[in-house]
Amino acid sequence: MTLAIPFDNSYATLPGALFTRIDPTPVKAPQLLAFNHALARELGITPGAEDELARVFAGNEVPEGAAPIAQRYAGHQFGQFNPQLGDGRAHLLGEVIDRHGRRRDIQLKGSGRTPYSRMGDGRAWLGPVLREYVVSEAMHALGVPTTRALAAVATGEPVVREAVLPGAVLTRVAASHIRVGTFQIFAALQDIASLKALYEHTIERHYPQADGPQALLDAVIAAQARLVAQWMSVGFIHGVMNTDNCAISGETIDYGPCAFVDDYHPETVFSSIDRMGRYAYANQPDIAVWNMAQFATALVPLMPDRDKAVEAFTASVHAMPALLRAEWRARFRAKLGLETEQDGDGALISELLDIMAAQGADFTNTFRGLAEGTARREFSDPAAFDAWEAKWRARLEAESGDPEARMLAANPAVIPRNHRIEHMIEAAVGGDMGPFHTLMETLATPYETPESPLLVTPPRPEERVAATFCG
Ligand code: AMP
Ligand code: MG
Ligand code: MG
Repeated sequence: MTLAIPFDNSYATLPGALFTRIDPTPVKAPQLLAFNHALARELGITPGAEDELARVFAGNEVPEGAAPIAQRYAGHQFGQFNPQLGDGRAHLLGEVIDRHGRRRDIQLKGSGRTPYSRMGDGRAWLGPVLREYVVSEAMHALGVPTTRALAAVATGEPVVREAVLPGAVLTRVAASHIRVGTFQIFAALQDIASLKALYEHTIERHYPQADGPQALLDAVIAAQARLVAQWMSVGFIHGVMNTDNCAISGETIDYGPCAFVDDYHPETVFSSIDRMGRYAYANQPDIAVWNMAQFATALVPLMPDRDKAVEAFTASVHAMPALLRAEWRARFRAKLGLETEQDGDGALISELLDIMAAQGADFTNTFRGLAEGTARREFSDPAAFDAWEAKWRARLEAESGDPEARMLAANPAVIPRNHRIEHMIEAAVGGDMGPFHTLMETLATPYETPESPLLVTPPRPEERVAATFCG
């Protein structure tokens, strides 16, 4: 059996300003570390022998039907506009139409330099590649819209970061890699023809029901509001919510220094580069609104009347916080087992979070514990929790059906805890992929109580991960 990928490329047919045609740079000794057979089946891919998979997903061999390109984009990085970013270490091999009729990108990340590499080496090291593999697949299993991981290949080449580290290439699958920054670059360049082509492609691909830029803006705002509410509900911190890492499709994209909260505090930041806490856990909804304001700005040149557009788009962006709050309440109500909606629900949720923050209760275990009857032990001083619990139990009286079953389905038992990810990476660097496979297995069914306490037990003080890094 030889590898066959049923490519059906569309982005590569758009105006040339949107991308550069460029092949990946071959690596020295490709070795397949992981391959997602279930996802391959979903994509209609016939997998070949292991050495062929290694060659193709390292970028050493361009598969039949692929048309590798690096996509162009700009972006606000920590609030500062950078007019020229783009895929500096990624190659979009092409697209396939999956078993469900959805168009999906297949992209190599860490596959060599492109015209957009700037000072970068075009490479990735094993750690972030495996972190993205595990966390993106975990997010999918949690039910959060996300890019997926198809393959991880070791390159056999060293990568120089804070140390000399083993190189790797990730194959990422996405609904598309169109970002807020993709719109921003053509708006900034006043290349209206390219902006329009991008806009039309985006509408057809992601929001066919949208009948104009305003409708596209509203659809993306709704998708982002849903997405960020889902992040909040599982304790996820993206870490680098720059506009170039904000996908128009509404998928989570670009897993860099991302992390899950262990002991809850709203100001939690892990990313080593986020010194001001711009992308802290509780700031994420506000940042999503800010990013949508940038998206709105990039859509203005598509409108005939600039002033009218600014006014209408501003109204859309200003409506987003209420939308976010509604999505957030819906997610957290589900976590408390509440199907109906009552006036005091928002306050009830916030009160629990406040107690958790004051006592550093474990986010995942507290919510799971509400369903399993073990939440109380997450609090060093349980009196505050007891008082809250009495109110919550009284509120549950108004509910019918099986709130417990609903809570078990809304509160994961396992998340990819940072210290286990770091441990997995250390093992992989040493040549042991065992912990990677154990994590993948456990994280495939996050709403089932696992047999092993591996991902349930919070880090001991000496195991705590203080900071996460980009790759
Ligand atoms: P990120 O922070 O990973 O979203 O990346 C921001 C920008 O830097 C993107 O244009 C990336 O393609 C580029 N970039 C990040 N790392 C590298 C690298 N090692 N080599 C080349 N470009 C890179
Ligand atoms: Mg071009
Ligand atoms: Mg990025």
